[in-house]
Amino acid sequence: MLENKDPQRTSIAQLGEFGLIDHLAKNFGITQESTLTGIGDDAAVIDPGDQKVVVSTDFLIEGVHFDLSYMPLKHLGFKAVSVNVSDICAMNARPTQVTVSIAVSNRFPLEAIEELYAGIALAALAFKVDVVGGDTTSSTTGLIISVTAIGLAKSEEIVYRNGAKENDLIVVTGDIGAAYMGLQVLEREKQVFLVNPNSQPDLDAYTYLIERQLKPEARTDVRTLFHALEIKPTSMIDISDGLSSELLHLCKQSNTGCDLYEDKLPLDPQLISTCEEFNIDATTVAINGGEDYELLFTIPLEDFDKIKGNPNFTVIGHMTQASAGSNLVTRANTKIPLKARGWNALDE
Ligand code: ADP
Ligand code: MG
Repeated sequence: MLENKDPQRTSIAQLGEFGLIDHLAKNFGITQESTLTGIGDDAAVIDPGDQKVVVSTDFLIEGVHFDLSYMPLKHLGFKAVSVNVSDICAMNARPTQVTVSIAVSNRFPLEAIEELYAGIALAALAFKVDVVGGDTTSSTTGLIISVTAIGLAKSEEIVYRNGAKENDLIVVTGDIGAAYMGLQVLEREKQVFLVNPNSQPDLDAYTYLIERQLKPEARTDVRTLFHALEIKPTSMIDISDGLSSELLHLCKQSNTGCDLYEDKLPLDPQLISTCEEFNIDATTVAINGGEDYELLFTIPLEDFDKIKGNPNFTVIGHMTQASAGSNLVTRANTKIPLKARGWNALDE
């Protein structure tokens, strides 16, 4: 559907590994004070000053995490950086550098790798990180990308998963569930396209959902908001696998239970209308659908006034004693135990 139809195809074998690295690396300069040496030596050199270094890494594998029939390579590059930067944000650290490793087959011409790197460069600019290294190798099958993100924070700023206390408020940024429904829309269009390759998808009604799936934005802004509001969450995690499973991580590691309120979940109107169209329960999507890359955190009850009415934040519940269990409180005011279902769970 969105496969690169560019007639120009330069073989990467022609350039060779070093030629390819040189070609890709020339787009990346140094913008961060903490980057002393970037691409070009045996290793990057980073000066953390008096701060702690926070590191996170993730794989994205073709056929497992993405499908190139509807994921443009530029978006994939952006997303690969974004999801890793999101993990740094979830520690309340400031992302500063990334390394990007790729394994590519001859199926990909140079122009395709350039597209991927255009997305990586866009994300580096958007999230203010330097691309300081990586590795390039061949793959006999699909495309594999691994990004490592590095961030800096003062030790007292770092927020872990294990600090939530009973009665703390559970707060989420932005809205949730949209990325999952975006994927459903894209999957449906792919099936239509396979049956009728001349069909032109009309995706106007789903633009927000699709953008959330293809171009998730790590919440680098939230750390700044916390500073301005003088908030330090007691625990935090980013929503990659789905609200329910992330919340259970916070509960387990903090040794608490929780009450999550169905009627408080922040849902975009496009999500609600698309769930109706697909005949899927919006609450199920919101709590089990993943890949929103919003932040889920807890704050002491006393801090409620600091976030009250702030459009970036929604209070969706509170922590309880561990013995009370982790529950969803439905609109009908019944309690259902929360289950850790990954973001693929809705496919069952
Ligand atoms: P080595 O043989 O030590 O692994 P390489 O030849 O793989 O070194 O890499 C040379 C330089 O280019 C290093 O700075 C490395 O971090 C960087 N680099 C290699 N591949 C990539 C890539 N895909 N993206 C960004 N930087 C890369
Ligand atoms: Mg190497």
